[in-house]
Amino acid sequence: MTTSENLKFSPGQIKVVSRAVAAAEDLVSDYYKLSATQMRQLNYDIKTAADLGAHETVIEHFAQIVRYSARKPDSLLSTGVEDFYKICLQDHSILSEVRRHPEIELYPFLLYIICHELIHVVRFRRFQQRFSVPDEQRRAEEIRVHGITHEILAPRQIAGMQPVFEFYENWRKAGAL
Ligand SMILES: [Zn+2]
Repeated sequence: MTTSENLKFSPGQIKVVSRAVAAAEDLVSDYYKLSATQMRQLNYDIKTAADLGAHETVIEHFAQIVRYSARKPDSLLSTGVEDFYKICLQDHSILSEVRRHPEIELYPFLLYIICHELIHVVRFRRFQQRFSVPDEQRRAEEIRVHGITHEILAPRQIAGMQPVFEFYENWRKAGAL
């Protein structure tokens, strides 16, 4: 492992992650008009490096979604779905990108990333997108999801979001993952 792979969010940064998760969940459920029950039925978890196994860690992305075929073990609620999605935030990639781009702050960057991943989950659950698709379809889906992320966040006047939009501008066009 290189040093950058070992980068993990500090306790202070984990608080920023929690704030971004709460805000992203509000924004996405608001956009799709999901009730609390419908949000629970999405059946996902958002985890950072501290809670990721080796196979859940990737070098080149800020996050990845891993689908498991059982309900999450600590869930007391029957959600009616048998699989769950683990949104695996890649601390090392996020932190090194923030270091490379001093204009990008952690909170708005995380908010963008988490909104983006939640939109994927909603679209998987609604069968608007299958989990495994060929690269070409995946690229088209990425363009769509970056577009929706922008549509959700742009009207909100979130401090520090503009540099994040600029960072992702080409991704919205080219569909990088
Ligand atoms: Zn994506």
